[in-house]
Amino acid sequence: MNACAASGRVAAVVLAMAGLGVGLLLLGGRRPTPLPVARCPIHGIAYDAELEVCPDCAKTDAAGDKGGVR
Ligand SMILES: [Zn+2]
Repeated sequence: MNACAASGRVAAVVLAMAGLGVGLLLLGGRRPTPLPVARCPIHGIAYDAELEVCPDCAKTDAAGDKGGVR
């Protein structure tokens, strides 16, 4: 029972990986950058779209929030 369930799970994972790979290949063939990339309007640098802010913005935000220097 356990082995059967495990092999079924492995097959599902393999299928998912294969599907993902094919999808990425198709996307990659059409677009030069398959990864979602955002560009910061302030710093003009491209960063991972999964991040909410660009690395530089995160730095300045962290620095600005700390002291309240001004
Ligand atoms: Zn920025």
